[in-house]
Amino acid sequence: MLKENSARMPALFLGHGNPMNAIDENLFVDSLKRVGKTLPRPKAVLVISAHWTTPYSAVSLHESELYYDMYGFPKELYMVSYPAKSADFLIAGVQELIKDLRVQKRALDHGVWSVLVHLFPDADIPVLQMSINTNFSMQEHYEMGKVLSVLREEGVMIVGSGNVTHNLREANLSNKDAPVDTWAKEFDEFVKDALIRRDFDALVNFEKLQRYADRAHPTKEHFIPLLYIAGASNDDKKSSFVYEGFEHANLSMRCWKTGE
Ligand code: ZN
Repeated sequence: MLKENSARMPALFLGHGNPMNAIDENLFVDSLKRVGKTLPRPKAVLVISAHWTTPYSAVSLHESELYYDMYGFPKELYMVSYPAKSADFLIAGVQELIKDLRVQKRALDHGVWSVLVHLFPDADIPVLQMSINTNFSMQEHYEMGKVLSVLREEGVMIVGSGNVTHNLREANLSNKDAPVDTWAKEFDEFVKDALIRRDFDALVNFEKLQRYADRAHPTKEHFIPLLYIAGASNDDKKSSFVYEGFEHANLSMRCWKTGE
């Protein structure tokens, strides 16, 4: 049993990739399970998932049923349950940090549950999901991460769920272990290097600085959760890659933990 902790929590960016990772066994899944066992026990998890975008800022209230927001997968995937309670006790505090924050009923989407099933398999830690505000610039997403970082001091673990590269049109969806495309490798290296050097401006300006930015992210919602975690990293001295690797030729599953 992990000890409940109100000390400073780490923050994590997690690749989620193929939704089947929720029920598959593989090295990526193993790494999530492993890090989950080493994490301090937070009083709540705040998740920014690529799969909830809104033209305003919002947090969700959920019941125990999930949002199966993916189509054409085996029926086992639609039987996954993750009955974590809604962390509604966080909402007043988040509203103080973010003006005009809306609260709406919405079940947790697969960007949330497909990773939390491995990280906190007992589903006994309350969860609050926050949307990606589509009116924000990359800089504003990063600044929002900074604003939210104070929650880490109060025992809240902030998790961003997306992918360092995400271009499903170019992905080899029939072969998870296909050889990795060079453009994806190059973009992933750019992100890895920026995270190691803590050059978060490079991440914010990735569209200008990396020649494959548009290919790696034809739409940007899978990259944006990383900006929240970079912003929330503040002056952390320690960070590490929980996992490095690719699926489907060009889907980077890189995961990053900041803080101890
Ligand atoms: Zn996704």
